Amino acid sequence: HRVHEEPALVEARIDLTAIRANTTRLRDAAGSAEVMAVVKADGYGHGMIACARTALAGGATWIGVARMHEALALRAAGIGSRILAWLLGPGDDWASAVAAGIELSAGDPWAVEAATRAAPAAGRPGLLHLKIDTGLGRGGASPAHWPALLEAASRAEASGHVRVVGIWSHLAHADSPGHPESDRQVEHFRDAVELARKAGLRPEVLHLANSAATLNLPQTHFDLVRPGLALFGLSPVPEVAEPAALGLRPAMTLTARLVSVKRVPAGYGVSYNHRYRTSRETTLGLIPLGYADGVPRHASGAGPLLAVGRQRTVAGTVCMDQFVVDLGDDTAAVGDEIVLFGPGDHGEPGAEDWARAAGTLSYEIVTRIGARVPRTYT
Ligand code: PLP
Repeated sequence: HRVHEEPALVEARIDLTAIRANTTRLRDAAGSAEVMAVVKADGYGHGMIACARTALAGGATWIGVARMHEALALRAAGIGSRILAWLLGPGDDWASAVAAGIELSAGDPWAVEAATRAAPAAGRPGLLHLKIDTGLGRGGASPAHWPALLEAASRAEASGHVRVVGIWSHLAHADSPGHPESDRQVEHFRDAVELARKAGLRPEVLHLANSAATLNLPQTHFDLVRPGLALFGLSPVPEVAEPAALGLRPAMTLTARLVSVKRVPAGYGVSYNHRYRTSRETTLGLIPLGYADGVPRHASGAGPLLAVGRQRTVAGTVCMDQFVVDLGDDTAAVGDEIVLFGPGDHGEPGAEDWARAAGTLSYEIVTRIGARVPRTYT
């Protein structure tokens, strides 16, 4: 009977109360702008549907995702708010998206045409947000291509098959507060909006800001801000590693339980290629999480990165499903819980610490937590 009462072997605990409070914090920072909760990539690994619902309860009024199927899954789950999807292509189900009232990004004339073609079958006009490349150099129409995009959009609007409801762009340096490029992008953005108005378009929703810009760059807020990472309580600004300093609380706690504990002598080689060797007699614990679960192999040997009572170092190479921790002379038993990262309540490090050890960002740490790790919600 006890088996069922025991906590799971591995678990990503998601604190929805934190997501709700973080959303409210971002809404307050956004001033008069509305908040689009960005929950792409399965809610940055936290679970898309639950996080979208929670963010809407916390004051977000829009949901943003990258891919069309993510938007359709949100609608199918009964989420009725405005939803924008922005990374679209041929082969996507444009007719279903238009029929479901999903708002769609168009940064090229072909996307305007795809929405136009989908409208008759959908029985309603496609709702478009024109994507302008103001300097990120990623998606969207670069300045030389604005006229062609605006012309395609005006023509499509005249056909009655689409409505241009928004114009938007994305920042390149929002995570470096004070970087002059952000103000330059704001200027380019205003120029593009001006051109759109001259072309007869009447976009009512202008948006540019991600998490970092929502928190630090009010001149980028316009009508709507699009925070993602900060909803989940992680810092989008490298100089401020401590989420609490931004009024945020990390929502994910990644835990596992020891599946093996053994006493070994000095000089014992640990894991592939023996990149770790015990310096004295010690106790090794085995943790059933590996790089297939999102524990970065680049964190092999790094630490302190996890809490088993106190913070510890990863002993040797992280394997696909497991890695080893050196517990010294501390008492430990199979079933003991270890915390890889979380908000710090149990002395555990943050996702930022794993990111630093692996040469990446906390974005990548949380989004890569694999499908084998069940998410549980509180
Ligand atoms: N807007 C767009 C277009 C994005 O691609 C993203 C995520 O990368 C966001 C907003 C949210 O960014 P962040 O997680 O930094 O808040």
